[in-house]
Amino acid sequence: MTPLRLHNTMSGQVEEFAPLETGHVRMYTCGPTVHDFAHIGNFRTFLFEDLLRRMLRQQGYQVTQVMNLTDVEDRIIKKAADAGITIDEFTEKYIEAFFQDLDTLRIERAEQYPRATRHIFEMVGLIEVLNEKGHTYVSDGSTYFRIATFPRYGRLSHLDVSGLRAGARVDVDDYGKDDPRDFVLWKARKPGEQAWETALGAGRPGWHIECSAMSMEYLGESFDIHTGGVDNIFPHHENEIAQSEAATGKEFVRYWLHAQHLQDAVGEKMSKRLKNFSTLRDLLAEGYQPRAIRYALMTGAHYRSPLAFSPELLKAADSAIKRLDEFAVRLGPVAIDAKPPSEILQRWDGALRDDLNLPAAVGHLFDFIKTFNTRLEAGQATPDERAAAMAMLRHANRILDVIEFPGAVDAEVERLIAEREDARERRDFARADEIRQQLLAMGIQLDDTKDGPRWKRLR
Ligand code: AMP
Ligand code: ZN
Repeated sequence: MTPLRLHNTMSGQVEEFAPLETGHVRMYTCGPTVHDFAHIGNFRTFLFEDLLRRMLRQQGYQVTQVMNLTDVEDRIIKKAADAGITIDEFTEKYIEAFFQDLDTLRIERAEQYPRATRHIFEMVGLIEVLNEKGHTYVSDGSTYFRIATFPRYGRLSHLDVSGLRAGARVDVDDYGKDDPRDFVLWKARKPGEQAWETALGAGRPGWHIECSAMSMEYLGESFDIHTGGVDNIFPHHENEIAQSEAATGKEFVRYWLHAQHLQDAVGEKMSKRLKNFSTLRDLLAEGYQPRAIRYALMTGAHYRSPLAFSPELLKAADSAIKRLDEFAVRLGPVAIDAKPPSEILQRWDGALRDDLNLPAAVGHLFDFIKTFNTRLEAGQATPDERAAAMAMLRHANRILDVIEFPGAVDAEVERLIAEREDARERRDFARADEIRQQLLAMGIQLDDTKDGPRWKRLR
């Protein structure tokens, strides 16, 4: 298998990828902060990770992917307290919504979704190791990482952080840090806050320690790939490296991959803070199809280039998908054991193996479709050629996952309805309901009539 080449933020180069363990990739992705619904900017990053995961699997690797859920941080604590409920009660709704959104966008599930609140003691354990090794200090009951004890700090972001020295204490936040670069590992409880009683005192973990503790818990002290959006590079990932490597003395991560931001129409990063965001739910309510959103966010630009979000982008995605669907229909019924034509296959795979260049791959695919359509119209395409073209479409769809092949949806709907009828017979109404929701996410509405279930497509 031709190797995959990936851009590593650490080296600033596109490098040939090889995992530490033959045939097995261990990968950690920074997940959502579940204080609200995720916005489509967040989903641009999660879709980039889906692309990476699918490509790794296509390369023949077994993938163990871990994505954390940040379910304790300032906004969550405040919003839960304002609502007079616990952190768990507050985050439940957003965690559930997040998983629904993943399904709507056909993002493959990671192997693990550890929650910060369920790993407090692993974090405390890691901080205790850092204490023993002299990397920390306590101020006003909170524990800090002392950056001065980790000379390699700043390698990932290639930033000169030496300018941020002690003395320039201008913008140090309300916690008492010795050096503005230092960051909090354990925050002492503030009045009225939900807290954990631990060996470090009553309090809660800082954000950065969460990802170090959970990634190493599930993937080991050294693993292959760590991903996130570019805003995670500094300080979050820089701090993760400092904590993890200071504790273990080993290289934490081999390849660091970062997705560029989704921007609004005027080039600002889409963010909750600027209120210039849309959630997936907003777009669905406006009538956009999930697969158009998936396609737009995945193919609108290479993952390392910013992408400006606009209704035009979604419209272009919609018509691209229509062309793919129509091409599948035009090819007609074909043999299913064919192989894709080697030239387009090599172009497609070649672009993707070159640092996941999906926009280029899609460009090649549409060139191929255009040429093939001319042959179809002239009645020149043989059944074997049509079967090969269909095989190419199926191959591309293992990554894109947006094409509706003729008959495929109906067959899947019928299968799910039969499974739901079974579940109802067993009086497993939870499962029956889950299937109804799954169908809804596929754009299928189910009605139970006296003649049995009937289904129809929404919009
Ligand atoms: P958060 O829920 O804020 O912790 O973010 C979850 C993920 O979304 C992180 O990997 C962020 O880097 C990423 N992210 C946040 N905003 C954007 C954006 N506008 N475009 C792309 N990714 C983003
Ligand atoms: Zn993280």
